[in-house]
Amino acid sequence: MAGTGIFTDILDGEVYKYYSDGEWKTSSSGKSVAIINPATRKTQYKVQACTQEEVNKVMEMAKSAQKSWAKTPLWKRAELLHKAAAILKDNKAPIAESLVKEIAKPAKDSATEVVRSGDLISYCAEEGVRILGEGKFLLSDSFPGNERTKYCLTSKIPLGVVLAIPPFNYPVNLAVSKIAPALIAGNSLVLKPPTQGAVSCLHMVHCFHLAGFPKGLISCITGKGSEIGDFLTMHPAVNCISFTGGDTGISISKKAGMIPLQMELGGKDACIVLEDADLDLVASNIIKGGFSYSGQRCTAVKVVLVMESVADELVEKVKAKVAKLTVGPPEENCDITAVVSESSANFIEGLVMDAKEKGATFCQEYKREGNLIWPLLLDNVRPDMRIAWEEPFGPVLPVLRITSVEEGINHCNASNFGLQGCVFTKDINKAMLISDAMETGTVQINSAPARGPDHFPFQGLKDSGIGSQGVTNSINLMTKVKTTVINLPTPSYSMG
Ligand code: NAP
Repeated sequence: MAGTGIFTDILDGEVYKYYSDGEWKTSSSGKSVAIINPATRKTQYKVQACTQEEVNKVMEMAKSAQKSWAKTPLWKRAELLHKAAAILKDNKAPIAESLVKEIAKPAKDSATEVVRSGDLISYCAEEGVRILGEGKFLLSDSFPGNERTKYCLTSKIPLGVVLAIPPFNYPVNLAVSKIAPALIAGNSLVLKPPTQGAVSCLHMVHCFHLAGFPKGLISCITGKGSEIGDFLTMHPAVNCISFTGGDTGISISKKAGMIPLQMELGGKDACIVLEDADLDLVASNIIKGGFSYSGQRCTAVKVVLVMESVADELVEKVKAKVAKLTVGPPEENCDITAVVSESSANFIEGLVMDAKEKGATFCQEYKREGNLIWPLLLDNVRPDMRIAWEEPFGPVLPVLRITSVEEGINHCNASNFGLQGCVFTKDINKAMLISDAMETGTVQINSAPARGPDHFPFQGLKDSGIGSQGVTNSINLMTKVKTTVINLPTPSYSMG
């Protein structure tokens, strides 16, 4: 059970502690932040509302711990990460339970998220050993006008303090996708978990604590992003921000100092379906891509752009599959569970009502109880409807009928987002042309968009992000190239 067994230290009465200087602490604010269970709409957990002084202290410790961590041999850093991964996987049950209770993720998917996170940490440790253990050697005489008098050695050095801010939908996985590359590269790490998802993150951080990382190297500050977010992101001690979330990321980018940013933001992933597509395959992918975790995935299929000639058939196939989706509590592994908050449910409802007023075809009746919204397919959506462009982050999927591939590409490219997209066709040559034409960070051919496997590069264009993720890219982003040049008095070719 959450907060028990090896996790007893992280709880103080009914409020979870924050993690600073290698210890679990109660905030001097005397205040806590409630985490509302999306399914019951009752307070499930409470976390500390940390103060600015506590942030200052954490940053000071992070700066000092990083100096010796950077000098710790790479293989030792990797060893500790492997240890943390094993502890995390061995204790997946209480962490998965917290995910179920604070973000209403189906129980099975919650357990998968924890195991996937352990695997990501281990992969990152291995990749770090490989890529950080080698550098480049350059000779000066390859550039015009130079003799062979300079030997340039390059290596990768850590940036310093990395601030990690993940979103609610994959709080553990998207936290470790920032923590592991930061640590293997020799950085220290300050985590600000999402409020919904904070307790799962605190459990995960305890696994790093138990693995024996040095004091102050990893910290976890809790509190509402709207209250301590600016103080954290504009803190002078921060040398890199890795953020995943919504539009907040755009405002953070505008306020942050001259530091590397890794921003993975929203998406409106389009699914373009051509006449020759295997419609059964498309329908299964639309269900998986559009309705997994109730559509609360950055890479969810968020708009279907289907050729008019096959639209009726596809819509019928998807409708049949939607009817089979189970709706209810996450504990019972239902396909569709409550969305994260009441405000999120209200926002989704607003998009549905707008589509209704403007004449979209409802393939199912719209139904909502509290934060639970039944899966809904909206056919005959037109570009003047909000749902054609906005990210519902819920189980509502619009279908736009197109009469040419160009129309589909134009709709996709007119979006301010550019995360992923997918195209279904049996013609690989056409698929490649479409992939090149789509202005998105990734295009999937004959499959729904997906972030994983976690070592694949993952990036968004336009308002969908800055930088690229995926294990190798994250390690590179959290390091800087350093060069040492050996200068010789005479060209090294002069003997013999
Ligand atoms: P969000 O509201 O932007 O929150 C993300 C994180 O930012 C949370 O930890 C939040 O903390 C924190 N935050 C809020 N205000 C802040 C501020 N002023 N300064 C610093 N941090 C602040 O996003 P969300 O609702 O959790 O997640 C949904 C969004 O994430 C969607 O748009 C989705 O597409 C996107 N997403 C993108 C990816 C990707 O890789 N591209 C992956 C997953 C999700 P609090 O919870 O305390 O407010």
